[in-house]
Amino acid sequence: MILRFRVPSVLIALCLAASITACTIPSLAEAWPHLYSESPSGTCSGPPEIYTMLPTPKKGYGLFATRRIARGTTIILEAPLVIIQPPPLTPGQGYEISKMLDSLRAEFAKLSPLNQKRYLALHAHMFPSEEGKETLMPILRSNAFNTGTGLGLFPIVARINHSCRPNAAYFWSEGLGRRVVYAGRNIEEGEEISISYIPLLKTTKEREKRLIQYGFRCECKACEASRGGDSESDDVRAEMQIMMDQLEAEALVPPGEGLMAERKKQGLLEDSLRLVEMVEEEELVDYYAQVYKLAAIMHGRSGRWKEGAEWALRSLEIREMADEYSDEAMEMRRMAPRFILESKKYMGEGLC
Ligand SMILES: [Zn+2]
Repeated sequence: MILRFRVPSVLIALCLAASITACTIPSLAEAWPHLYSESPSGTCSGPPEIYTMLPTPKKGYGLFATRRIARGTTIILEAPLVIIQPPPLTPGQGYEISKMLDSLRAEFAKLSPLNQKRYLALHAHMFPSEEGKETLMPILRSNAFNTGTGLGLFPIVARINHSCRPNAAYFWSEGLGRRVVYAGRNIEEGEEISISYIPLLKTTKEREKRLIQYGFRCECKACEASRGGDSESDDVRAEMQIMMDQLEAEALVPPGEGLMAERKKQGLLEDSLRLVEMVEEEELVDYYAQVYKLAAIMHGRSGRWKEGAEWALRSLEIREMADEYSDEAMEMRRMAPRFILESKKYMGEGLC
């Protein structure tokens, strides 16, 4: 049997997981000092919890905001309960299950009885061939996330349900050894917190296929609208994928000179703005940083450095909100000042 695991489509920003406090993990306080406070007694404490776990009508448990959560706020920062190193990935297919089970059993055996209970309490989607068999692997398959080179199980993050129009995003922080979930947009009090388990620039049917391994049919607004005969979201997502691929490819090629090249640059600039508009209208928060970067590049190529710098700064803000140490954040930290400098040259400002 071949498996796939939840892979963040774009790695993207705290109430802390209940078990984490600032004093016991100083590096977290260093990374996010604004989230920690020191009481008069000298005892550190994290911020008040901003989510709660509640049962839902059709999706088991879910996490819900206990107050309004502003865009960019970290919601969860959780260490893996179990982490295993998978065998080599079969391109386009996944991991071979038989090679993983022994190491999973060994890691499970090392857990305390309480943690074993937490593991076994998670949802297990069983394939027909697995009925009546042990649930260790089905639980991992249904809930695990990539952790750099490994696969990890995060009992709190695992309770966050999927949406094809999620309000939160997440990434693995190698430096902290934790999975971080943050608000991709403002989340209202009482609203369910959602993330995406799959790439989202796909049609509803394609997304359904990818979600089979988790054992549910998504009933988010985007999926329900499509099933009700409204194909707009599907059409837009398919178009976004095509435009994204084209702009990413063009961004790697030198732009050239001459009349034809200028026309092409203008066309690509317009496409990049159209792509931003579509991604924002569809509220695909996972993709904002990526499309802002493309808009920056296409403006820069047309010599519109000031607008390019603004797009680059918007992309940088999201990358830093997610993980300021990521390669993507570093890339934007290099790009934005270059664009600002070019715009000042053009305006004749601020240069010696
Ligand atoms: Zn959906």
